Amino acid sequence: MLLKTLREEVLDANLELVRRGLVLYTFGNASGINRSGGLVAIKPSGVPYEELTPEHIVISDLDGKIVEGNLRPSSDLPTHLELYRCFPNIGGVAHTHSEFATAWAQAETPIPCFGTTHADSFHGPVPITKRLSAEEIAGDYELETGKAIHRAFEKVDPDAIPAVLVAGHAPFCWGPTAASAVHNGVILEYVAKMACHTLLINADSSPLARELHDKHFLRKHGRDAYYGQAKTR
Ligand SMILES: [Zn+2]
Repeated sequence: MLLKTLREEVLDANLELVRRGLVLYTFGNASGINRSGGLVAIKPSGVPYEELTPEHIVISDLDGKIVEGNLRPSSDLPTHLELYRCFPNIGGVAHTHSEFATAWAQAETPIPCFGTTHADSFHGPVPITKRLSAEEIAGDYELETGKAIHRAFEKVDPDAIPAVLVAGHAPFCWGPTAASAVHNGVILEYVAKMACHTLLINADSSPLARELHDKHFLRKHGRDAYYGQAKTR
């Protein structure tokens, strides 16, 4: 069996989506990539999470050719592949229809940064894609979804804002590993919920000051990060 460890990581990432309450039924998927081999491991389509085993995980190359697996991959595979092709540093992708982040996607509104919880993980508002055209929807829909995400990041660093809202659909998140992509999905949902509550309390709430936003993001990420314990490796 190819990529046993990656399969196990991807299986666990998919189960974590369930444990964290981010997916209903089979509405969600997580994947991971082995960059040296150019191979992606993703959840199969429509298999209940409680029945998933590492053998069920489907292995695809970056062009969508199935390299190993008897089941059909998640129908969102072309979106995941486009993200791996366009964002060279990412190692995992997670897609959910989590309630509050999806509500923002449906409202076609970027999630503003109202506080340091957001700033700790996302170095700016979480972007929204443009709507897909009728031709894009009728064509290679899942690939076009990936391209729409890529266009939303033309002036945004995907490593600094590891999440997006797809207009009228739901969020996609990513990170260095499948587990980190899911982690970002959990944080995104929490931040999306708090932003909603913030606007309910005061519809005129202002985004966090740039200095405080930068302070919180940069103390956790990048060259001069100092939050947490020193890395030993
Ligand atoms: Zn979806």
